[in-house]
Amino acid sequence: MSLYGDYDPKNIFAKILSGDIPCAKVYEDARILSFMDAFPQAKGHTLVIPKVSARNLFDIRCEDLQNLIAHTQKIGRAVRSALEPDGIRIAQFNGEAAGQTVFHIHFHIIPAWDDAAPRAHASGQMADMAELKDLASRIKAKL
Ligand code: AMP
Repeated sequence: MSLYGDYDPKNIFAKILSGDIPCAKVYEDARILSFMDAFPQAKGHTLVIPKVSARNLFDIRCEDLQNLIAHTQKIGRAVRSALEPDGIRIAQFNGEAAGQTVFHIHFHIIPAWDDAAPRAHASGQMADMAELKDLASRIKAKL
């Protein structure tokens, strides 16, 4: 059912947007925020979210979605330059059955290396904030 329904203004990403929960910020402008995933599937796992209240791909206005994916490409390029992975997965989930755990639309940028298997999605292993901030500043430097 989580594919349907109203936007919850108390979701974790809404709290990050309002500054109530801290994040390791990579990029921010009037419409977009990007930060490091706190439970990364791989080193450099970065999230890109819009500053509009949309649960998923089907709720968001087309114009906001275009802006979101354009920024995912731009920030993904910076992740590529900063970390030089062998591959990068771009992921986006809609509804709990599909793996979505935070109901504010977002794109995942997940670097991949030939010799390292990624951790499972939503594995619950929290990263060290200092390490995330260091990664964020390396990515920011390439924007
Ligand atoms: P999804 O499961 O596609 O909805 O993705 C939500 C992502 O948010 C997961 O990869 C979580 O690891 C990540 N996440 C959850 N809480 C936080 C947080 N406080 N700061 C940063 N990332 C988070």
